[in-house]
Amino acid sequence: MIRGRLSLGRLWPLAAAVRPFASPVEPRRQFRAGRSRQRDFYQGFEKEMDLFRQRLKAALPGTDWNPWGISKDLPPEWADVVIVGGGIIGWSIAFWLKMREPHRNALRVVVVERDLQYTKASTVLSVGGIRQQFSLPENIRMSRFSAEFLRTVNDYLGVFNEPPIDIQFNPSGYLFLATEEGAAVLEENVQIQRMEGAEVSLLSPTQLKKTFPWVNTDGVALASYGLENEGWFDPWTLLNALRNKAMSMGVFQSVGEVTSFQCRSNEMVTADGEIVDFPRIMVANVPKLPTDIVMW
Ligand SMILES: Cc1cc2nc3c(=O)[nH]c(=O)nc-3n(C[C@H](O)[C@H](O)[C@H](O)COP(=O)(O)OP(=O)(O)OC[C@H]3O[C@@H](n4cnc5c(N)ncnc54)[C@H](O)[C@@H]3O)c2cc1C
Repeated sequence: MIRGRLSLGRLWPLAAAVRPFASPVEPRRQFRAGRSRQRDFYQGFEKEMDLFRQRLKAALPGTDWNPWGISKDLPPEWADVVIVGGGIIGWSIAFWLKMREPHRNALRVVVVERDLQYTKASTVLSVGGIRQQFSLPENIRMSRFSAEFLRTVNDYLGVFNEPPIDIQFNPSGYLFLATEEGAAVLEENVQIQRMEGAEVSLLSPTQLKKTFPWVNTDGVALASYGLENEGWFDPWTLLNALRNKAMSMGVFQSVGEVTSFQCRSNEMVTADGEIVDFPRIMVANVPKLPTDIVMW
């Protein structure tokens, strides 16, 4: 965390410095389902239809068969996994669950998102920076996998008959600076990063000045600079692509706010007070949901 003036007494990234215009990322591409007025109309209509279907189904007791189909925007009548929050993590979980299902439609996954405009979601507020320079091998491995995933994003997330995904990746290394005090830790971290296969260079103050003449090297004893798999991309595009792909694989999206789980009765209650029944509930990715309302 950086408070007030930057202190060189610890390691800190200069990512913003090596990307000259780190402007806030504007949403560039709308979700395909984002034709809001038309969508609102259909959502309202579908909701009415869903209630109608539920009433009809209730009038047909003694069978689990649902002859009325499933609404795309409302929760299906049952699910194996409910994911609360359709940010990058929620849709990523949904995608990977579907990737690992033994056969198509083996797993019914529902992602519940309360705000399709994502006004406060971290995903679209973020700059979408990716780096390899961590101190834990696990983090470095995850980040190396992420870099490979982004590089081949169309292999993972491409959808038949749809335009290729361009996540607008801008390669640019992160630059970490250390004082005399932090130099040993920085060097040790770089050794771990290199052991994990990351390409990171160590720079003396002289080399640093030569490479980045605009950096004030006063008090800097050592620097590290990422040579590959670092940079930034458009998180909105990635979120959209993950969502689009997951839905093409059969994941359901439900619009609404989950306020509680009543697992003893296997019911999910939406913000509208609507009760949805599930045979099993596994709660995944519950962003900021107060733990006292999650009952097991
Ligand atoms: C300013 C900023 C910059 C960042 N920069 C980077 C970066 O450069 N690189 C990087 O790797 N990470 C960065 N991050 C972190 C990264 O953005 C987050 O770790 C990541 O986006 C978290 O994703 P998420 O899906 O968990 O959360 P979110 O994107 O916040 O998604 C959570 C979703 O859950 C929904 N939700 C919440 N409660 C409920 C409920 N009860 N019912 C239904 N829906 C609900 C919300 O509406 C929201 O859409 C940054 C974060 C911020 C804020």
